Amino acid sequence: MVRILVTDQVHESGLKLLKENNFDVDVLLGIDEGNLARIVGNYDGLIVRGRTKVTERVLENSGKLKIIVRAGVGLDNIDLNVAKKKGIFVYNTPGAPSVAVAELTVGLIVCVLRGIGKGYYDLRHGKWSKNELMGREIRGKVVSIIGFGRIGYEVAKRLKAFDAKIVVYDVDRNREILARSLGVDFANSLEEALSVGDIVTLHVPLLPETRHLINAEKIKIMKRGAYLINVARGEVIDEKALLDALKNGQLSGVALDVFSVEPPKEPWELELLSLPNVIATPHIGAQTIETQEAESLEAAKIIIDFFKK
Ligand code: NAD
Repeated sequence: MVRILVTDQVHESGLKLLKENNFDVDVLLGIDEGNLARIVGNYDGLIVRGRTKVTERVLENSGKLKIIVRAGVGLDNIDLNVAKKKGIFVYNTPGAPSVAVAELTVGLIVCVLRGIGKGYYDLRHGKWSKNELMGREIRGKVVSIIGFGRIGYEVAKRLKAFDAKIVVYDVDRNREILARSLGVDFANSLEEALSVGDIVTLHVPLLPETRHLINAEKIKIMKRGAYLINVARGEVIDEKALLDALKNGQLSGVALDVFSVEPPKEPWELELLSLPNVIATPHIGAQTIETQEAESLEAAKIIIDFFKK
């Protein structure tokens, strides 16, 4: 029997599908690196989400492990070089969360432009801060979407309904055709996209080239008083530079779903989160029932197809 190990919380539907297809499924949620390294070689396949770090140490004695599936998008929690060296195939389920993340992005934009976080916080603490909360509308604003992949595309589609002017930028120039078909502008450079946006939203993957893509220098290129949204990965922004930019008024507001270190704990990170013009959520981009189910089923189908070959 083919043995599959699941080490993160995935929706029951995919596990059920695997069992119906005669896979032997063990679920060991919260297993630590050492214990995972000790047992992973006894399994043919491994299913993770973002919590489990599939490090070099985990794969040291990979035994019969042939496939790792990340139920979700990013692959930054898996050491791809080591997996490749060991001949282990790595897959993810990139399409499943696009709509959930795009909907959250739009929600966060509305929240940060209208001060919903502060309004609710104050109300809960007995303060009626109506007069402090003069917001902005999305209508007529330029929204720069950095990274026009699956999520960036879904964000653009939705923001069109808000009558925003949308400018997208992607290193892949082939995405320009798609941008044109949606009736949105394609910027020639990151700098151009940053310089025109009243609202800048990030949808790039975390890669060596995108680490601190938005740093102090890039923030200076942005319009004074712009809003910045990050639902991609925390490390895409130099968060210390972000704190400075909020304190000195370079940015009017920031919405974050992701952080370099999750959960953020350092005093300067908590200072960032305590600012009235910051709205933040605990990495909930893909946390919808619909996405969890779709990711789990897609992960199971990848495993079933793989072992059918
Ligand atoms: P995707 O691969 O479909 O799109 C990413 C796009 O970014 C691609 O078109 C790529 O060409 C472009 N890109 C890469 N480097 C770039 C650069 N330097 N400048 C401009 N564009 C660049 O991925 P996706 O499905 O749209 O997801 C995007 C990212 O969103 C993921 O990699 C992940 O990190 C993040 N994400 C977050 C959550 C969450 O819970 N907040 C959930 C899912 C995905």
